Amino acid sequence: MTLVERAARQKKLEAAAHVVEACRLCAIGSTRTHSVFGEGDPCASLMCVGEGPGETEDRLGRPFVGRAGELLDKMLAAIGLAREDVYIANTVKCRPTLDAGHRLANRAPTPDEMKNCRRYLDEQIDLIRPRVILALGAPAAKSFMGERFSITKQRGQWFEGPFGIPVTATFHPAYILRQTGGAMTEVKRLVYADLKAVRERIDRPPPAPAVLEQQSLFD
Ligand code: URA
Repeated sequence: MTLVERAARQKKLEAAAHVVEACRLCAIGSTRTHSVFGEGDPCASLMCVGEGPGETEDRLGRPFVGRAGELLDKMLAAIGLAREDVYIANTVKCRPTLDAGHRLANRAPTPDEMKNCRRYLDEQIDLIRPRVILALGAPAAKSFMGERFSITKQRGQWFEGPFGIPVTATFHPAYILRQTGGAMTEVKRLVYADLKAVRERIDRPPPAPAVLEQQSLFD
């Protein structure tokens, strides 16, 4: 990819981020502080997709910058990737909240919110065309693999995602942080196995051009 192509891709992503900023399809578009479009390498081989922005992300307008984000950075480092090497996004771009009296609390995005926001996620995937998509946690995984997907039974398996891109899922970093003792050790072991499989998939040589195209040269 040339520098010019990379810059053009970045420009398209920035334009899409402006559209998201102006989006009010859901009520959370009006309660959020900042929309959190996503960030990272526009030519990344790996795209990580989380559930939705939390309090810190909403305040800063950046994905995975709270405690879960710190752990995500460490997870990526474990397979030799820096945060800047990947693209990080969420299924919804605005922080889903509920009124907890004196403050706003986080909640999971509703199916309608995920549906409204899907166009933006698909646009990101289409522009970046990563080699692999890693869904973080059950809601993100279900948004790709369907409602029946079980994170405990099917994490680490491979599925065909948008535009034919391979998708796999692992536990969400926030879930890992909620574990203690032996449970945490076990979850970390599983996550590391999933991450290593992601690394192996990224490192595979890209598929060869179709043989038919080559043969047509001699027709
Ligand atoms: N959790 C998510 O799913 N996404 C973020 O951006 C932060 C925390």
